[in-house]
Amino acid sequence: MLAVSMVHSPAHAAAPKKDRKYYESRGEVIWEVRTSEKVIALTFDDGPHPRYTAQILDLLKQYNAKGTFFVVGNKVKLHPELVKRTAAEGHEVANHTYSHAYLNKKTNIKKEITKAEDTIVAAIGRRTHLFRPPGGIYNDKLVQTAKQEGYKVVLWSWHQDTQDWKAPGVNKIVDKVLGHTRNGDIILFHDFIEGPTHTIDALKIILPELKQRGYTFVTVSELLTHAK
Ligand code: ZN
Repeated sequence: MLAVSMVHSPAHAAAPKKDRKYYESRGEVIWEVRTSEKVIALTFDDGPHPRYTAQILDLLKQYNAKGTFFVVGNKVKLHPELVKRTAAEGHEVANHTYSHAYLNKKTNIKKEITKAEDTIVAAIGRRTHLFRPPGGIYNDKLVQTAKQEGYKVVLWSWHQDTQDWKAPGVNKIVDKVLGHTRNGDIILFHDFIEGPTHTIDALKIILPELKQRGYTFVTVSELLTHAK
């Protein structure tokens, strides 16, 4: 009896379940945006990559598309000119930690974020406002730390995880995106991949097709302004 009454104690009942619904309703973590407009956000993680990032920027320019690049601080340090170019061409640069550490409660989350931000500021001359945790792994400490540091946590649409980092074949990436595209999607790609990438060839199919369907490719910050 005692165990039962403890489980149903008012203290327990009052603690909100911190799931997607909880964070989404508070605007602290973003998965996608509900909108009636044909806007979507392409996001690219883990860069900059000395070759792939430049090729992706060329493609985005060709289709007048804006993207959001969640960069890793220790790679920004190696290729600041690519991050500078990314920002100069109207894309959004965002924070994806300094060392791509998977952030658990014991990690110095603040240090991972601020150290990365310092490299970004050195490259583009201004700070960023979006943060994506490596692996999409988050906890309450992370969400609150990001908030205190002035970031929104941005994940991705669950139906738009292309798994392109596995180089799964061009068609797999294309089918995943084109088969599921909805208004307000946040699509997950990677500009930095170890070894060969299928992302660039997939984008060569995805970009013209979605443009044909009437979609506009906007940064995540712009997408948020379309939320209804
Ligand atoms: Zn990542």
